[in-house]
Amino acid sequence: MRAADIQDDLSQILVTEEEILAKLDELAARVTEDYAGKDLVLVGVLKGAVMVMADFARALPIHAPMDWMAVSSYGSSTKSSGVVQIRKDLDTDLHGKHVLIVEDIIDSGLTLSWLLENFESRGPESIEVLALLRKPEAAKVEIDCKYVGFDIPVDFVVGYGLDYDERYRNLRDVAVLAPHVYS
Ligand code: IMP
Ligand code: MG
Repeated sequence: MRAADIQDDLSQILVTEEEILAKLDELAARVTEDYAGKDLVLVGVLKGAVMVMADFARALPIHAPMDWMAVSSYGSSTKSSGVVQIRKDLDTDLHGKHVLIVEDIIDSGLTLSWLLENFESRGPESIEVLALLRKPEAAKVEIDCKYVGFDIPVDFVVGYGLDYDERYRNLRDVAVLAPHVYS
């Protein structure tokens, strides 16, 4: 869906589909250079990272197997708690691999910090993070994210994989959800 289809639910378009695709091309060029000759595996976190993974992986001119992890973090629908449970684990053995975690957004950073620690224990050669969006002012823990798409304000955003109550993931752009939708 396009922002115009659900105009009343959105207060502002933050990043357009065109801007996202251009940024992912840029990040793909950097990753291609950084991982030349290395055994790369992309790990996506379901479900939010589906769109980023699909477009980022296709922007890469190098082989990049992908795997998926599903986690649930407890908390309210618009805030995460950092208490994480694995719903679906990876199929891949990370031992000796160069792992690039592909994420939709870093908010508090709690989910990712848990995930990084979990992956460290699996013996990868390296781990880096790519996140399309980051909310620097919401950080509760510092995440060393090598590839960042856009730094955004603390507002709750939807679209391009990001949901509110499982809706808006199929919105093409990233937009701020109008407060009347969730209050
Ligand atoms: P964190 O642990 O607070 O960094 O965020 C964990 C997850 O919460 C992210 O991977 C997203 O799936 C979700 N999330 C955080 N901020 C937003 C938002 O603004 N909109 C939709 N989902 C979000
Ligand atoms: Mg997510």
